[in-house]
Amino acid sequence: MLIDAHHRIINYVRISVTDRCNLRCTYCMPENMHFVPHQTLLTDGEILFLLQTLAAAGVSRVRITGGEPFLRPGLLPLLEKIKAIPGIEEIAITTNGLLTRSYIPALQQMGITHINLSLDTLQETRFLEITRRNKFHTVMDTLQSLLQHNMQVKINTVVMENVNTDELVDFTALTRHHTLSVRFIEEMPFNGQGHTFSGITWNYQHILSVIGATYPLQKITDAPHSTSLNYHIPGHQGNIGVIPAYSRTFCGTCNRLRISATGSVKTCLYGNDALNVKTILQQGQPLLPAITAAIQARFINGVEAALHRTGKNMESMSVIGG
Ligand code: SAM
Ligand code: SF4
Repeated sequence: MLIDAHHRIINYVRISVTDRCNLRCTYCMPENMHFVPHQTLLTDGEILFLLQTLAAAGVSRVRITGGEPFLRPGLLPLLEKIKAIPGIEEIAITTNGLLTRSYIPALQQMGITHINLSLDTLQETRFLEITRRNKFHTVMDTLQSLLQHNMQVKINTVVMENVNTDELVDFTALTRHHTLSVRFIEEMPFNGQGHTFSGITWNYQHILSVIGATYPLQKITDAPHSTSLNYHIPGHQGNIGVIPAYSRTFCGTCNRLRISATGSVKTCLYGNDALNVKTILQQGQPLLPAITAAIQARFINGVEAALHRTGKNMESMSVIGG
């Protein structure tokens, strides 16, 4: 089992399978994003070896993210192989919904039903402003199709001051007739341009107070290790949640490891990279002891990790995977 020095068991891995993206969300990357050279991305073989190693050490849940995961050539056959790894019980995907729709039946057939769809606005013009691409209707069509196929959908909405805070209630209204969860995420400083901030106005409490002024929010039990605080509104089919991604209130139960598109291992989103899988494998070194050591050296929370971070944070969430 992978256990850190603070007695937290690591059984969940998020892996960014590409840094490439077909949107340019302002909070995630610049328009002229420099993507990494192709040969520095993890190969299928490296991903599978890594996941086999982690699964043998107790990791049972995998989230596939990016960049936009469906831009990775051969994603479906790779998912089939991940699915076959002994010990992997659940695969979930986070996607922007641009290419996703045509893959839904195949995903369903594979038993992959947990899909997080990123959507920060319900307004077409604003979608273009946020993502710099005119693809609102494609994403909405994907959402509709996911629901028609009874997939377990979570909408990820990054809450940005002066951008989309007037839509919190509109997003919440979606849960009335649809069995989905809308999760409002605090904005984090990972836009690939060194954008930093020392505080956010729209933290999870502020978000909840605005929604709570319109809807009666009933707290529901959160899943173990959940990063979201979840609520139900009487009469609604779905739920809402808030993710204190900047406030970092959930670090005490953090059970996750992050693998970037280039194979960097992050034991905390806010910290430096701990090691690189590609480098270790290329040097012929054993992977598990290196990962175990990195997990042992993990900071107690994201605030400590950020304090000890060296170098300016120029990272884009597309490389880290969210
Ligand atoms: N491209 C896919 C998508 O957008 O769903 C997967 C990768 S994206 C990096 C994963 C998640 O990170 C998305 O839900 C996105 O909204 C979130 N994200 C990206 N940058 C963020 C930031 N600066 N603060 C908070 N969330 C962010
Ligand atoms: Fe692409 Fe996702 Fe980043 Fe938006 S959040 S630019 S969709 S990787």
